Amino acid sequence: MSLSRHVDPEEIIHHLKDIKLQEKGSGSQRQNHLTPYNSSYASQEDIPKYKIPENGTPGDTVYAMLRDELDLDGRPNLNMASFVNTYIEKDAQKLFVENLGKNLSDNDEYPAMISFSDRCVSILAHLWGVQKGEKAIGTATVGSSEAVHLGGLAMKRRWQEKRRAEGKDAYKPNIIMGANAQVALEKFARYFDVEARILPVSAQSNYCLDPALVKENLDENTIGVFVILGSTYTGHYEPVEEIHKILDDFESQTGIDIPIHVDAASGGFVAPFTYAKTGGHKWNFELPRVKSINVSGHKYGLVTPGVGWIVWRDESFLPKHLIFELHYLGGTEYSYTLNFSRPGAQVIVQYYNLIHLGFQGYRAVVENCLSNARLLSKALEATGWYTCVSDIHRPPQKQAGSVKSGSSGYDGENDQSCCSESQNDDQKAESEESKTHASSSSLSSSKDTPETDRNREETSADYTPGLPVVSFRFTDEFQQEYPHVKQETVSLLMRARQWIIPNYALPPNEDQTEILRVVIRESFSFDLIDRLVTDLVSVTETLMENDEVDLSLLQQHQGGRRRPLTKDEKRIEKEEREREERKGEERGEEKGKRMGEGIHRSVC
Ligand SMILES: *Cc1c(COP(=O)(O)O)cnc(C)c1O
Repeated sequence: MSLSRHVDPEEIIHHLKDIKLQEKGSGSQRQNHLTPYNSSYASQEDIPKYKIPENGTPGDTVYAMLRDELDLDGRPNLNMASFVNTYIEKDAQKLFVENLGKNLSDNDEYPAMISFSDRCVSILAHLWGVQKGEKAIGTATVGSSEAVHLGGLAMKRRWQEKRRAEGKDAYKPNIIMGANAQVALEKFARYFDVEARILPVSAQSNYCLDPALVKENLDENTIGVFVILGSTYTGHYEPVEEIHKILDDFESQTGIDIPIHVDAASGGFVAPFTYAKTGGHKWNFELPRVKSINVSGHKYGLVTPGVGWIVWRDESFLPKHLIFELHYLGGTEYSYTLNFSRPGAQVIVQYYNLIHLGFQGYRAVVENCLSNARLLSKALEATGWYTCVSDIHRPPQKQAGSVKSGSSGYDGENDQSCCSESQNDDQKAESEESKTHASSSSLSSSKDTPETDRNREETSADYTPGLPVVSFRFTDEFQQEYPHVKQETVSLLMRARQWIIPNYALPPNEDQTEILRVVIRESFSFDLIDRLVTDLVSVTETLMENDEVDLSLLQQHQGGRRRPLTKDEKRIEKEEREREERKGEERGEEKGKRMGEGIHRSVC
C-alpha cells in the first residue's frame, strides 16, 4: 500500500470546469436503480472520488462500478513481480470467508483460532531446527516486515540491556545488512533509530551480503546481523553459516557476542522442503547464533496476503519488558506485536495449508516451482539473447560469478563436511528418500553419476540451491549488436500482453546492471511457462527488428499511470522543491540531495 496524498476535489473540478466530459442527461433516469448501469452515476455524474458523497448508492451499483475500475489492475497470476501468493484452494477459501470477522487480538473470544496460531509457531520452530531443551516462542504478524521489526527490536533491547549492565553507553546501536536488503530491513533501522550499515554487494558475493565486509564492520555497538535467506534480486541464499563463523572469530578475539536474525521471508518455506536444502550449509536454529527467524506466510507459505511469522529459538531472547500481559477470565495471554487488531483468517488458512499439504505436499509445490524456474532459465539462455543472473538452473558449485574468497564456506571441501544435515524427528520418516538425493547433490556432475541414477527424475538437489526466481538480462553480445534495445522495453511490451515482469537495477554499486525478474509461484504452471517463453521471444524479436526511433516512442510511455498534475499542483511542487533545496544549501548540501536521502527505491 502506498502513502496517499490528499487530493483537493475542488481544485480538480475547477481545473476541469471548461472541459465537457459528458453531456448532461435529462435527469429522467436519476432515481432508476433497476439495473446498476441505469443509475445516475452511469451517465450523468462522476463517482465521487475524494470526498464522501452526501447520499449513498445501492450496493449493486457500487459493486459494478468498483469492479469495472478494478479491471484496470493487473492480473494477480500474471504478476511475476511478486513473491506473494495469489492462489487459494476452495476449502481454504471457505474457511477464510467463514472467519473473515475474527480479530486475531481477541484471544479470549476466539480460543480455537489462537491455538491454531500457537500450533503454527511450533510447527515452524520444528521445521527450522529448534534444539532439544529450548523453549521456542513466536508470533503471527501481518507479514515479514512486522516480523523483521520485532526481531530487530528484540536485538536492540538485548544489546541495550547488556550495555547498561556493563555500565557502558547504549546510544549508538548499529545493524549490518547487505545492499540487497529488502526495504523492511532498512525501515527497521530508520524507524527504530539504529544505524544501518548497508554493505555493498558484488558479482563475487552473488549480489548478497559479503562475509568479508561483515568482518570489517563489526564493533561493540553492533546489535546483530540481518542475513537473508533468499535475496529478492536473484534468489540466492546468503551464507548464514559463513557469517556465523566470522561472528565466532570476532567473539573469540573481542569477547563481543553478536546474534544473527535470519530474514527467511521466502526461504523459510522453501529451503526446509527442497531436496537441495541450502546445499549442505546450515542456516537455521542448528546454528547457535541464529536467535530469530521470520517468514512470510503469504509467500511460499501459500496463504493470501496478510500473514507472517517470527520465531525466537528460546524465550530468553525476547526481553521481558517488550512483552505485554493481557489478563482475562483468570487467564493470562502474552503479546509482542506492533498491531493490535488484525484479521485472523489468514492464520487459519496457514494452519489449513500445513495440515492439508503436509511436508510432502509443500515439497511437491516448491520442487515444481524450482523445476519450472529452471525450465524458464534454460529456455531463456538457449535463445542466446539472455543470460541468467540467478543460479538455480546451474549445477551446484559451478555457478557463474562464484569466486571463492579464501575462507569461503562455498568450496566443495566445506560442503562435504557439513553435509550431514541434522534432521528432527518429524522429518526422519522421509529421510531415506532425501538422503539419496542429498548425497547425489554432492556428486560433482551428472556425467559421473551411475547409469541407474541418471534415469531418475532430477530434483533441486542436482542444482544450486535458491529461491524459484529467474533474474535475467541481455547477453553482452546482444547488447553489442542491438545497443538501441533497452531491457525496460521488454518489460513494457510484455505488460501490453498482460505479463507483469519488472526491470530493476541491481543494488547500489552494481546498479549499472539491470535485471528482468520473474518469480515462479505455485500457480504458475508448466503450460504458462511455455506461453511466457513464446511471448518473451516474440517481444525480443520485435525489438530487434525495430529501429531506435520507434523504440524511443515506446520508452516515453513509461510512468504514464500517474494522474497528470494540474498547473497549480505543478507550481506548488516546484516551489516546495526549491524551498527544500534552499534549506539544503543553507546546510551545505548539494542540490537534489535531500530527496535522494529521503527516498529509497527497493526491490520487493
Ligand atoms: C517480502 C520480503 C520482505 C517483506 O515481507 P512482507 O511479508 O511483504 O512484509 C522482507 N524480506 C525479504 C527478503 C522479502 O522477500
